[in-house]
Amino acid sequence: MGLRGSTRRAVVVGSGPNGLLAAITLAEAGWSVSVYEAKAQAGGSLRSEARTLPGFVHDVGATVLGLAEQSPALRRLPLASYGFRLAKPRIALAHPFDDGTAAVVTTAIEDTVATLGSDGRAWRALVGALLDDWEHVLPQILGPVPLPPRAPCALMRFGVHAVLSARALARLSFRDERARALFAGFAAHACLPLDAPISAAFGLVLAANAHLSGWGVAVGGSQRLADALVAHLQTLGGTVHLDAPVAALAHLPNDAVVLCDVTPRQFLQLAGDSAPQRYHRQLARYRYGFGVFKVDYALREPIPWRAAECREAGTVHLGGTFDEIARSEDAVSRGLLPDAPYVIVVQPTVCDPSRAPQGFHTAWAYCHVPNGSDADMTARIEAQIERFAPGFRACILARATMSAPQLERWNPNCIGGDINGGMQDWRQLYARPVPSLRPYRTPLRGVYLCSSSTPPGGGVHGMAGWHAAHCALADARAA
Ligand SMILES: Cc1cc2nc3c(=O)[nH]c(=O)nc-3n(C[C@H](O)[C@H](O)[C@H](O)COP(=O)(O)OP(=O)(O)OC[C@H]3O[C@@H](n4cnc5c(N)ncnc54)[C@H](O)[C@@H]3O)c2cc1C
Repeated sequence: MGLRGSTRRAVVVGSGPNGLLAAITLAEAGWSVSVYEAKAQAGGSLRSEARTLPGFVHDVGATVLGLAEQSPALRRLPLASYGFRLAKPRIALAHPFDDGTAAVVTTAIEDTVATLGSDGRAWRALVGALLDDWEHVLPQILGPVPLPPRAPCALMRFGVHAVLSARALARLSFRDERARALFAGFAAHACLPLDAPISAAFGLVLAANAHLSGWGVAVGGSQRLADALVAHLQTLGGTVHLDAPVAALAHLPNDAVVLCDVTPRQFLQLAGDSAPQRYHRQLARYRYGFGVFKVDYALREPIPWRAAECREAGTVHLGGTFDEIARSEDAVSRGLLPDAPYVIVVQPTVCDPSRAPQGFHTAWAYCHVPNGSDADMTARIEAQIERFAPGFRACILARATMSAPQLERWNPNCIGGDINGGMQDWRQLYARPVPSLRPYRTPLRGVYLCSSSTPPGGGVHGMAGWHAAHCALADARAA
């Protein structure tokens, strides 16, 4: 690869949140940075589009920006000065039950305790303890293996629960169905069977994040976050080239450090013959996770949830009981389509009316499917919503669906519809994409990976890009 890294010049391939954070971090250090993005809009899975009717703004990918708000990489940036603003729903998350009631999560843990009956105290003990330790735990789980760990006691307290399966932790902690189901809804974001080790970690982290951040959304759509990041990068002297797919690393300037916001499969294509055989074999073995089938809705009125709390919630988890959600995720892991899928519904207009013409609403819903499945899950998703919100179908003005392969066409990083840049089981949580204390570095001199296929994995936080850029800066200083 020649003399990459001999000057302070960098090329970032891909403009997802990780690519943009990598670019900003290097530009802040005085480097000359160019971002090349294959698509016509910057932002990767932060892009918003008019997918249904005029005047309705849909986040095709991410909407809930709780991780972004708490990310050490993002929260230090002056994004408000570029027009970025968060809107918060009164209720971060609601989990409805068949009896017409719901458990809720808000920024006041007592609200949750009150909806969990006899398990309220157990929720406070389990999740409340993590909230107390959060400022020590969060920075350490948002990156590569924390060695040596800072605040080891806090990390240990988190770790003893986090390594368990969601089922084991729910059984150990809660006696009744409500709290177990609420926990399952968070844990199922992991895209793992709920019997899998470390599936509890996702439940704990997302529940704590929801309590602390309130799961806000970007006013006007997630694109506004991408646009603010691009504007900040440009203020720092960086440039973003759109409609500019990079086909091979060999096409990039030889004197530039390269950071790739792509997953291992794409990286191997970019690297061609230049990747050493051992690294090639390791990346070729990298595993991708569940796909997603998504529906965007333009609605004539808010979703008519039976449980009133759901009408004020930004996010609603559907699946009823722990066992039903577990069955859904287990089926997907075995390559099957669940009859009654676990569904995540996000209704941003609950707190951001600017996304729809006055009086109208937007929402999206997705469920997991086997990686690459082209199944149409619209009917099953809508049956789940109808179960908890009778009359929902009558509210639909228009819908736009996206199967797992279509999601990959929209964003080539969503391999087979995987929205997390690769499976996040115990083997690939930190060993992402390979076991290493510096997983961002590739064997190619001056070439780094910076996507969600590196720690800490999926979500809008930009931490992978931030760590990758710091790795590149450290290498440049040492050279
Ligand atoms: C449907 C959906 C819902 C989600 N919901 C949430 C949520 O609510 N909250 C949350 O925190 N996270 C959510 N996520 C996950 C989150 O969006 C991703 O984890 C995050 O965007 C990953 O960021 P990234 O920078 O690694 O990659 P991406 O955002 O995937 O961006 C990668 C970019 O690289 C570009 N690219 C790839 N190859 C090339 C090439 N060869 N040349 C040039 N450009 C290239 C792509 O076009 C893309 O723009 C969701 C994702 C999806 C798809």
